Parts: sequence; C-alpha cells; structure tokens
Amino acid sequence: MHELSVADALVELVRRRLPAGALLRRVTVRIGPLHAIAPEAMQWAWKSAAEEAGWSGAQLELDLPPWQLRCLSCGRRWQSALVDELCTCGAIGAMLEDGAEMLLLSFEYDEAEMVSASTPSAPAQPQGPV
Ligand SMILES: [Zn+2]
Repeated sequence: MHELSVADALVELVRRRLPAGALLRRVTVRIGPLHAIAPEAMQWAWKSAAEEAGWSGAQLELDLPPWQLRCLSCGRRWQSALVDELCTCGAIGAMLEDGAEMLLLSFEYDEAEMVSASTPSAPAQPQGPV
C-alpha cells in the first residue's frame, strides 16, 4: 500500500529530529496532494510504522492542502480540490505549483525517564566533615 511507504518516510523524518530516547507523542505533517493520501489508510499505516519504531500510541495529525494552480494565460493563482480546474479567465492550461511537499510541521515528545536519569545533576549540598 502506498501510504505505508509514506509512513516509513515520515518515521525517518521524525527519527532524525527526535532526541535520543525520547518518546514520540504526536506529529503534525503536511502532505501535498500529489501523494494522493487517503486519510484513513494513512492513519492505519502510521499506527503500524510508529509501533515498529517504538512509538506506539503516537498520534498523527494530517494537514492535506489542496492543489495550488497557476494560470499560464493570466497568471492567476488559486487553490482547488480538482487538479484540472480551469481558470476564471477561461484559458485552458493551468499549471501545478507544487503538490509534492512532505513537511514535518511539529512534533511533541516526552523525555524518557531512563535517559534523563543517566545524566545525574549533582545536588548542591554542603558536605559536612566526615
Ligand atoms: Zn487565467
């Protein structure tokens, strides 16, 4: 399934930015219409990929923008759910601006307790005479 490879790419994107040992809670991602993402399939694929990465329960927030079109005749730019929508000037032939983007917008995580415990901060306690 196509969404599985997108989910794997997403896991890689997050892994590169997540501090070592941190536990991912939520990730927000923008995926362009060129990827033709089906939201339900994407959620399912993410759940499976996240579990494999050790982030079971991590939430996926999807931002799926519409097509960005630009008229080749008058230069007008607009957004549409339809990839082949015609410009209001009547010209045939709108150009796609993008649609292939895959952007990590934000993510939330918990610091793993075991990791923070392994870097002890010495409490500043006065040492009495032994
Ligand atoms: Zn136009």
